[in-house]
Amino acid sequence: MDSRLHFQVEARAAGSEARAARFRTLHNEVLTPLFMPVGTQATVKAQLPQTLEDAGSQILLANTYHLLLRPGLDVFRRMGGIHEFMSWKRSVLTDSGGYQIFSLPHSRSLTEEGAVFQSYTDGRTILLSPEVSIGAQVAIGSDIMMALDQCVASTAEEGVARAALELTHRWAARSLAARAGSPQAMFAIAQGALFPALRRESALRLAEMPFDGFAIGGLAVGEGKSEREEICAFTAGLLPADKPRYLMGVGTPLDILEAVHRGVDMFDCIIPTQVAQRGGVFTSRGYLQLRRGVYKFSGEPLDPACGCPTCRRYSRAYLHHLTKTRETLGWQLLGKHNIHFYHRMMRDIRASILSGTFLSLYHEKRATLHEDDLDNPVLAQKPKPPKRQALGNYEIHAAWEGFSSIRHIGSGEIMHSRTPPMEEAQSLYVEQSRLSERLSQQAADPLVIWDVGLGAGANAMAAIACYECGAPPARGLHIVSFENDLDSLRLAFRNNDQFRYLRHSAPAGILKDAAWQSKTHQKLAWTLVEGNFLETLGSAPLAPDIIFYDMFSGKTNAEAWTPQAFLSIFSACRGRGVELITYTCSTASRLAMLAAGFHVARGRSAGKKTETTIALTPLAVRAGHELLAADWLGKWRRSSARFPADLPAADHSAWEAAILGHGQFQHLGKASAGGALVSGAPQGSVLL
Ligand SMILES: [Zn+2]
Repeated sequence: MDSRLHFQVEARAAGSEARAARFRTLHNEVLTPLFMPVGTQATVKAQLPQTLEDAGSQILLANTYHLLLRPGLDVFRRMGGIHEFMSWKRSVLTDSGGYQIFSLPHSRSLTEEGAVFQSYTDGRTILLSPEVSIGAQVAIGSDIMMALDQCVASTAEEGVARAALELTHRWAARSLAARAGSPQAMFAIAQGALFPALRRESALRLAEMPFDGFAIGGLAVGEGKSEREEICAFTAGLLPADKPRYLMGVGTPLDILEAVHRGVDMFDCIIPTQVAQRGGVFTSRGYLQLRRGVYKFSGEPLDPACGCPTCRRYSRAYLHHLTKTRETLGWQLLGKHNIHFYHRMMRDIRASILSGTFLSLYHEKRATLHEDDLDNPVLAQKPKPPKRQALGNYEIHAAWEGFSSIRHIGSGEIMHSRTPPMEEAQSLYVEQSRLSERLSQQAADPLVIWDVGLGAGANAMAAIACYECGAPPARGLHIVSFENDLDSLRLAFRNNDQFRYLRHSAPAGILKDAAWQSKTHQKLAWTLVEGNFLETLGSAPLAPDIIFYDMFSGKTNAEAWTPQAFLSIFSACRGRGVELITYTCSTASRLAMLAAGFHVARGRSAGKKTETTIALTPLAVRAGHELLAADWLGKWRRSSARFPADLPAADHSAWEAAILGHGQFQHLGKASAGGALVSGAPQGSVLL
């Protein structure tokens, strides 16, 4: 039968379907079995054409659909085809776009005529018919064109698979007709999913048409490895022996070895460059993942048996570093090695077929190709438990809105549940405390923030971010964080890909030394006081100007919201103007603050709360605060939380009188004398 490739089988392996052959394209003589690197966009990702030539690439694969959209066919027509355009002197095989009909099912509609796509580059509507596909491949100027096919999932039902197969056969005939007199070779694609009868019908029907080679399509799209190998062997056996056989999109070195054994000559796959981008390399000693710490100090080459430019020049330690830092050079160097590895394996296979030793090579490689690094075994042979992101009493909570926060496992309480942690910290604490404005005012002493309930560090980091953005503030800032359980910060810090605000030297310093001093801002410091806040606040290094009060709620931590707790805080603020900002707006908490001597104002809304609370020492009260007034008192008097739960009934009237007598409400004209309800209450300023 007439063929544009002059395909000649040179040798067949005994005890195997493997064969060595050669054929001639418009650009070079091709030796099989061979591997074709994938150059979707007329470039093999991160590799120079020269590198590919040196590695022994004979044919590159390019994607018609992508090149049709960009740069467009006129570019190929005017630049003299893809070889001129990308400076590649050897062969190019173009796929037909059939795979995109399969893989982009939601962006196209399919008819007998072809598939209609919406272009992803400019929204144009594009009809991909056999005639358009072949016209495009002619313009691109590939050596081997593929007929347009309809690929279905290998797990498709028989009716669906049959319909796709019949359409593929009609399109195959139209593709051949569309080639007309072009000297370019063309392959057909046999379909049939996992149904042997359909595979047989497809192989035999297409073999009757004058194609120059045949591809086994519709594999590596959902089936298992053994099913693929079975169908591959079955189909290869039905295809003409005097034409090349091409298994599309397959695969790992081991997959390729298995398919050669079953009679396939040609392969393409993105794996060598794709795994390189993620730090993976194939070597004679197994598959290496360069991100692993075992290579950090390794002066060895990637593969002692490899003579590629990467292995000749660079150590595993350097490649490990490039991988960890995601440098593109790492991707390039690892990809270069992988392409060398694939091509060398294909040459070894070919040589063994020619010398009659394929079967022993097959058994030897089969035993090692699936291995991970044989010399530095991956110890986690034990099944890995699903990665639960938890530490101590805390776990990471993923909000459906797409951000992460920390959940207290015991109570289920989530820190910043409704709004990303930094946004909430910024709005509730940084903006309400007018931090930026206050830092711009000259003062000898630093402004001091007590960050009560450090948690995962969002409030402190929001304050630091406020300090660090823009010109250095006039005033220094010292944050004093209080926390009794650092596990929440540790957990978030370890997962700082989800808590990006912690990618900063400050939390590292806090976790390591309980203190941090900025190297870039001399007057910015952070100190941690570990332990129960109410027990440690007396020994805090500095008295506060602002308090971010972000303790767990009264349900989880009742102690933090009692009148006694606020009295301790009020005492620590003696003589200072201090604003205490907190997320709650509960009547009980506000009463506790009032009872302790604070003035209490409404804060802005946050998350699902329509308002929050700002407690103020009398010196901090400004015109801008919206102090609770008569309307709140009215609500309080009707409220079930009118008195603290543990207050004896005998003290109720004294409590009520004390609240009504608070200085904040004096101007309302309801003054009455108050009695002390909390022992040790400060004199003068407040009731109690
Ligand atoms: Zn190498």
